Amino acid sequence: TSVRDKLLASIRTIPDYPKPGVQFRDITTLLGDADAFATAVDGLVGPFADLGIDKIAGIEARGFILGGAVAHRLSAGFVPIRKKGKLPHETVRVAYSLEYGLDEMEMHRDGVKPGEKVIVIDDLIATGGTAEAAVKLLRQIGADIVAACFVIDLPDLGGRRKLEALGVSVRTLIA
Ligand code: IMP
Repeated sequence: TSVRDKLLASIRTIPDYPKPGVQFRDITTLLGDADAFATAVDGLVGPFADLGIDKIAGIEARGFILGGAVAHRLSAGFVPIRKKGKLPHETVRVAYSLEYGLDEMEMHRDGVKPGEKVIVIDDLIATGGTAEAAVKLLRQIGADIVAACFVIDLPDLGGRRKLEALGVSVRTLIA
């Protein structure tokens, strides 16, 4: 089976979650399948092995799981990007829009040093609002964002184009 088929077969779709009309792509089944998990991590690592990546920035919460594994593969550090109020040290903060209203994301101000090469990781990109907020946080600190990588792209929602318009290179494994 191809990488694409293996990943597709390992992702479960839950209709009407978290609310009616939404088809939720559930990657817990991918994470629980050793072969699919390894295939996803290999795919995210992709062409980045010899580029001297300093840090993986993982977006809460599934980006922590995938990002931790990718960081190990790239011999990079890991920095968490979290919903506001969860990080104990001094943070940078950015507001981003949800479907209804605003929320805020944070990272530790000393989580990345200016000029460090960073890859952003999450499980899925939809509208791109979450990843855009991560990019803004990292740029506030002066990070060099080499790419943003996701297992799943929902192309109709335009997230990839949004990030590319910000000058960020985007890698996704399945759409
Ligand atoms: P965006 O900000 O609209 O791009 O939404 C992406 C964020 O919402 C990511 O952090 C995803 O983990 C999460 N998300 C949105 N839809 C789904 C889904 O169907 N499955 C899993 N996560 C999702």
